[in-house]
Amino acid sequence: MAAPLPSLPESAMWSVPADEPLLEVSDLVVEYASDEPVRAVDKVSLRVGRGEFVGIVGESGCGKSTLLYAISSLLTSPARVVSGSVTFKGHQMTSLTEDELRQIRWRDLSVVMQSAMNALNPVLTIGAQLRDAMAAHEKVSPARLRERSEDVLRLVGIDPIHLRSYPHQLSGGMRQRAMIAMALVFKPDLVIMDEPTSALDVVAQRSLILRVKQLQREIGFAVLFVTHDMSLVSHLSDRLAIMYAGQIAELGPTREVFSNPRHPYSQGLLQAFPSIRGPRRPLTGIPGSPPDLRRPPTGCRFHPRCGQVMEVCSRDEPRVHQVGDTDLVRCHLYEAEA
Ligand code: SF4
Repeated sequence: MAAPLPSLPESAMWSVPADEPLLEVSDLVVEYASDEPVRAVDKVSLRVGRGEFVGIVGESGCGKSTLLYAISSLLTSPARVVSGSVTFKGHQMTSLTEDELRQIRWRDLSVVMQSAMNALNPVLTIGAQLRDAMAAHEKVSPARLRERSEDVLRLVGIDPIHLRSYPHQLSGGMRQRAMIAMALVFKPDLVIMDEPTSALDVVAQRSLILRVKQLQREIGFAVLFVTHDMSLVSHLSDRLAIMYAGQIAELGPTREVFSNPRHPYSQGLLQAFPSIRGPRRPLTGIPGSPPDLRRPPTGCRFHPRCGQVMEVCSRDEPRVHQVGDTDLVRCHLYEAEA
């Protein structure tokens, strides 16, 4: 039964209470400036607790990567944060200087992007890149640098002999592992990952992601993980946010979202990929395509594609409703029920 909570501000509702959130995103709005600005992230709120694994899924262009860039303060022009805040370990990320951000990156928060080939420097060995990352943050003897570099490569399952290798001498899977090694060199509190396995084949994907999950359990860092692969995230994340057209449509414990998706878009996404367990069922896609974010639809952004659309949906923007104990859903259906 739906239970709207009108007395709570929306940002508080999207944030499942955590004792001490490591990361708190509140009403974040990001736009790409142009004659007709593109609002790629629209009033997104999210909390990540220490050691938590939070997945973000959605179709291409729904704003999930822009959200990660904004959280990591890596946005470049014409993208900019218009309003809202990102608080990480008490720091207001949007108001830090580049110097202050440099102190936080790698040590407290690190980022693994889609293609390691683009992120790694092609003319430096893996060892030199690890050394540079460490030396930028602390004074360590060459022997200690080498020892830590070897340790961190072993951690991700790479033979330390590859400290002498250049990126092009490694396979795609090893390059991604090397990127993850760099991200973990200081044992940060939060690792942000944007489709880190998308360039790999399915077997390499599984092996890499299982290793990440294992390391997360051992070291205890939190992960914010963006993917469009629902089956991958189903095994990994504690909580799952489903994004549509720059907004979070549903947020809840991953198990709950998979077993009982509430938002019609979540239902459509889940019906669009095969389940390994359970009876065979026909796969159905979601009709239509995501909206142009320069001119998003009025009311609910999903209404032109929604199979359960009602009159109110094209008129009024839906509020956030708490459904069950933990699920948060932006949809008029639950207001109507209540
Ligand atoms: Fe569908 Fe209306 Fe819910 Fe939007 S608010 S998802 S259009 S039922």
